[in-house]
Amino acid sequence: MMSDIASLCKRRGFIFQTSDIYGGMNGFWDYGPLGVALKNNIRDLWWHRIVECPPLDKNGNPLRILGLDSSIIQHPLVWEASGHTSNFSDPMVDCRVTKIRYRADQLAVYLPIKSDGTDADGKAFAFFEEEDIQNIADKLKKCGRRKIEEFRRVLLTDLDTSQYIRVVAPDTTDVGTLTSPKAFNLMFETRVGAVVEEKSVAYLRPETAQGIFVNFKNVLDSVRPKIPFGIAQIGKAFRNEVTPRNFIFRSREFEQMELEWFCSGNEVAEWQEFWLDNRLCWWKDLGLDSARINIRRHSPEELAHYARNGHGTTDIEYKFPFSGNGFSELEGIAHRCDYDLAQHQKSSGVKQEYLDQASNERFIPHVIEPSSGLTRAVLAVLCNSYCKDKAHPSGFFLNIAPRIAPTKVAVLPLQSSVEIENVARSIFNELRGKYIVAYEDRQSIGKRYAKNDEIGTPYCVTVDFDSLKNMDVTVRDRNTMKQDRIGISHLGEYLRQLL
Ligand code: ATP
Repeated sequence: MMSDIASLCKRRGFIFQTSDIYGGMNGFWDYGPLGVALKNNIRDLWWHRIVECPPLDKNGNPLRILGLDSSIIQHPLVWEASGHTSNFSDPMVDCRVTKIRYRADQLAVYLPIKSDGTDADGKAFAFFEEEDIQNIADKLKKCGRRKIEEFRRVLLTDLDTSQYIRVVAPDTTDVGTLTSPKAFNLMFETRVGAVVEEKSVAYLRPETAQGIFVNFKNVLDSVRPKIPFGIAQIGKAFRNEVTPRNFIFRSREFEQMELEWFCSGNEVAEWQEFWLDNRLCWWKDLGLDSARINIRRHSPEELAHYARNGHGTTDIEYKFPFSGNGFSELEGIAHRCDYDLAQHQKSSGVKQEYLDQASNERFIPHVIEPSSGLTRAVLAVLCNSYCKDKAHPSGFFLNIAPRIAPTKVAVLPLQSSVEIENVARSIFNELRGKYIVAYEDRQSIGKRYAKNDEIGTPYCVTVDFDSLKNMDVTVRDRNTMKQDRIGISHLGEYLRQLL
C-alpha cells in the first residue's frame, strides 16, 4: 500500500522526489501543488488551535501561547549547551560487503532469531562480538531510543547460550560482515561567511525547540507573560538520518510543530497529562482512526538525557502501513524538566529565571514539550485516508477531512456549451472567495470524478442542460458517490453546512 500511496503522490502532484531529473536524493522531498496545500492546511490548523485560539485550562480560561519564528542557523554554542554536539548521534554499523550503513538499534528489530542462525524467512545473520554488543547497548542507553527494551531482552537471552548476538545484515547473505558500531552525529554542518576556519562551522537546526529556549528571555522581557505560558514554533528541521526511509516518514529535511510549555515544577505532571489529552484530540480531529492511534509511555531505560527525576516522554503513535504489528511515532510529549533553560543559563551566563510577582520567588521554569512532525502528519493523513473501494471509478478514494483537503469543491460543466459554462463559471466565482475551489472543464465527467476522488476533493458540483431549465446542479459526495440535486440559490448554504 505504501507504494500505491507514493505513486499516487507523484502522479497527482502531492510529493515528488527532490531533484528528480538528476536521479533524486535520498531523504529529501518536494511538495507539489496539492502536497503544499495539504501541508499548509495542517500547519494552519495547528497554529490556529495552539497560538491563535489556544485551548482552555481546567477553569475554562484560554491558555497563553505566543508564536515565534527563529532562524534555522543558531550560534554553535546553542547546540553545545543543548547537548546536541555531543549526544545527538545514532550508533551505526557498516556492512563490509554491500557498503550499506545501518543504525545498530534498527537492526535489532529483525530479532528474534532461530537457533540455526536464520530468521523466519531463512535469511542469514552477521555476528557482533561481545565487546561490540556492550558497545551498542551503552550507546543505546545514552541515546534513549525506542528499541532498547526489545534489544536488551534478546541480548540477555542470547548471551546465556553463546558469546554472540546474531543480527541481520538485511542486504547480504554473508555472515560477519558488520563493523563495530560508531557514533554518528546527525547534525548537518555548514560554514558561515567567506573565511573557512574552525570558528565558521555552524549547524542546520536538528529541532526547532532550541530556538524557543534561547528566546525565552526575549519573550519574557518583551511580552511579560505570566507562568504558565507557552511558546510555539513551526519550521524546518534537518537531520542527517542514517537510513531515511518509508517515503517521507524519516526524511533528512522535514518540518516540526513544537510547543514549549513553561510551568512551575510542581504542576508539571498535571500539564503533561493535559497536553497528552489535547494532542490526542488534535490527531483525531485530523481524521486519523482512533484504532490506529497508540499512546506509548517510555520505559525508564529510554529516558532522554534531559529527563531526570523519573519524568519521561509519552509518544502518540500511528499504525502506518509499514509499522507491521506495531506503531510509529507521530509526536512526543516530553517532560524536559528545567534542563534546557538551565543549560543555556550555565553556558551563556545569562539568567533564564522567571520572577513570580506574588511570592517574589525566582526560578527556572519546567517544560512540557509536545513536539510533532508536520511532514509526518501529512503522511499519516495520506495513509489514513487511502480507501480502497471497487465501486469508485479509480478503485479507491482519499477520504481527507474536508477542513484539510487541498481542494474543497470542484465545479464541473458537464458538456461544452456556452450556456452551461456561463452558469458553471458564475458558481465558481461565487464559491472561490469562500473555499479553495477548482474549475475543471477538460476530460470526460467520469475521469474528472475519478481524479477528484484520488485527490480527496470532498464535493463535485456538476452543471448540465437541466441546470439551465431548473436552476439546479448535481452535488456528488466523494465517499458515498451519492448525487443530490440542489437549487443553485441554496448551493452556498448547502456546502457551508457540509464543509
Ligand atoms: P525517531 O525516534 O523517529 O528518530 P525522535 O524521537 O528522534 O524520532 P523527536 O526528536 O522527538 O523525534 O522529534 C519530534 C518529532 O519530529 C517526531 O515525533 C517526528 O514526528 C518528527 N521527526 C523527527 N525526526 C524526523 C524525521 N527524520 N523525518 C520526519 N519527521 C521527523
